[in-house]
Amino acid sequence: MIKFRQIFLIILAIVIPVVRGQMEDISFGEKHIYVNTFQQYIEKIIFGSIGGIMQYLICCSIVEYYNPMPKNKLRLQNIFREIRYGIVQLIFGCFVSMSFYYYLYPYTPYYKYFETHDYTLFHFLYGITFHWLWTTCVGYWTHRMLHLKYFYRYIHSVHHSFKEPSAFCYCAAHPLEGFIEGNLLLHTAELILPIHPMQTMIYGGMMAFNDLFAHDGGKYDHSDHYRHHLYYVVNYGDAKIDRFFGTAYDPKNYPVKEKCTYLPDFKDKEHPLFQRYK
Ligand SMILES: [Zn+2]
Ligand SMILES: [Zn+2]
Repeated sequence: MIKFRQIFLIILAIVIPVVRGQMEDISFGEKHIYVNTFQQYIEKIIFGSIGGIMQYLICCSIVEYYNPMPKNKLRLQNIFREIRYGIVQLIFGCFVSMSFYYYLYPYTPYYKYFETHDYTLFHFLYGITFHWLWTTCVGYWTHRMLHLKYFYRYIHSVHHSFKEPSAFCYCAAHPLEGFIEGNLLLHTAELILPIHPMQTMIYGGMMAFNDLFAHDGGKYDHSDHYRHHLYYVVNYGDAKIDRFFGTAYDPKNYPVKEKCTYLPDFKDKEHPLFQRYK
C-alpha cells in the first residue's frame, strides 16, 4: 500500500510546475501585486481555471485510485456527477478571486502593502496562523449557517446530495457555497491584516488538499468529514471545535449506518471499505 508521503510527493511534483507557470509574474521577492490590467485579469481567469481543473482531475484521480471502494457503475456515476459540479465551481471560484483582486483589492487598506514593506518570516507566520484561525472558526459557523432551512434547501443541499462522497466531491457544491466558504473566507482575512496575495493562494491550495482528503474518507480525513455526509448534523468542521460545541459525532446519538450504497450486498463488515460505517 502506498504511503501518504509518496502521494504527497507525487502531488507536489504535479502541482509545483503548474502553479509556478500560472504565477510566474507573481512573487514575494519582486513585490508584484496581482492583476494590474484587464488583459491580465482575463488571462488569469482562463489559465487559472485550466490549471485548477487539471490539478483537480489529476490529484483526485490519484487519491481515488488508492481508495478501496470498487470503481463500479454506481461509484463512477457518483464521481462523474461530482466532476460536473466541481469543474463549474473551480471556474467560478477563479473568476471571483481574480475579480476581487482586479476590481476590489485596490480600494482595500493593505493593497500594495508589500511594495513598501519587506515580506519577512514574521509576515508568513502570522499570515498562516491568522488564515487558519479565520477559516477554521468562521468556517465552522458559516457551515452551520448553511444548515439553516432556507440556506440548506437552496444552496447546501447540492453538496449533501453526495451521501458517500469521493475526493472529487470536495468542490462539488452550489457556486454560492464555494463563494461563501472559499473566496469570502480567504479574502476577508486580507482586509483585516496585511497578508500577501500569493500567500492567500498557497493557503487556498492547502485548504483544497485538506478538503480533498476529507471527502476521500480515508485515514487522512482528520476532521471525520465523511460522517458529516453520512449523518448531516455532526462534524461540521475542525474536530476540536465540533467537540467544544457538542456537534462531534457520537455513535450513542445516531444509529450506525452499516450499509454502503455502492455495495448493497457486501457482507464482510471488517473489510477496509467499511472503516467509516462502523
Ligand atoms: Zn463535504
Ligand atoms: Zn454540511
